[in-house]
Amino acid sequence: MRVLILGTGAAAPDPERGGSGILITHEGRHYLFDCGVGTTRQMIRAHVDPTEVDNIFLSHLHYDHIVDFPYFLLTSWICDRENTPVVVGPEGTQEFIDHLFEGGAFAKDIEARLQFPRRQGNTHVLRPDVRQCEPGVVFEDDLVKVTACYVEHIPREISPCFGLRLDTHDGKSVSFSGDTAPCERFIELSKDVDLMIHECTFPESAIAFRKKANVGTWSHTSPTALGEIAKKANAKKLVATHFGSYDTTNPVVRKIMGVHMPIDIIGPERLDEVAADIAATYKGDMRLAHDLMRIDL
Ligand SMILES: [Zn+2]
Ligand SMILES: [Zn+2]
Repeated sequence: MRVLILGTGAAAPDPERGGSGILITHEGRHYLFDCGVGTTRQMIRAHVDPTEVDNIFLSHLHYDHIVDFPYFLLTSWICDRENTPVVVGPEGTQEFIDHLFEGGAFAKDIEARLQFPRRQGNTHVLRPDVRQCEPGVVFEDDLVKVTACYVEHIPREISPCFGLRLDTHDGKSVSFSGDTAPCERFIELSKDVDLMIHECTFPESAIAFRKKANVGTWSHTSPTALGEIAKKANAKKLVATHFGSYDTTNPVVRKIMGVHMPIDIIGPERLDEVAADIAATYKGDMRLAHDLMRIDL
């Protein structure tokens, strides 16, 4: 099994960190978890053909996890995709998809391109097989099973959020937290997993600042808490991801992130703080994600 972390950023526009996207490939079949900004281009950088990615799982409906989906599907369509993609997600996924394509935001684009006979042959791919799910087993084929649990991020009455776990039929496992505050259900879901991929949006120093500055935040997980979560779940490997651009050196991104933390502490050295805080508790194989990081299981 190959796990490619396509994008490792959060909501800020950061050229060094794309939006959330993880591509798991097992026996030649692809499973895409989230589709944040740049996901489609990152697949192509990794020499993966997006028209061959048929199973998409959305953890939740924040734009940093889904905004590339229309691009993914529209480019797949004009690149002669043949298979209708399956899209698995929490409540709200159907509505999100329904507003995009025919009769939605890209209706005029589609109408215009349909003038060409070649584009008329595969319009079925613009109507994804959406499977809006409750927690439990949300997908199964002859190679893998995917299970979801609710995590603690956006208030559930606004939009439920999933943590996900993929198990292969030959015994390999990966879990992905989506975005969440420390969550017992996700620890339970991840029990003894081969690889836990968990969000770690802000370092402790930024969390302290955000509390004081009242900048308004949904729930996330601190590095210290993440170390405890991975230990409790007995995860064999841990990859921390979904970094809130606190390591940037780009002047524009620094200015943006200055709202969230003191600007003078933004920089690559924050990753040292994060690594040390996770490793204080979790003694397994831990890595901080970067875009296009590859893990083989
Ligand atoms: Zn996010
Ligand atoms: Zn989110």
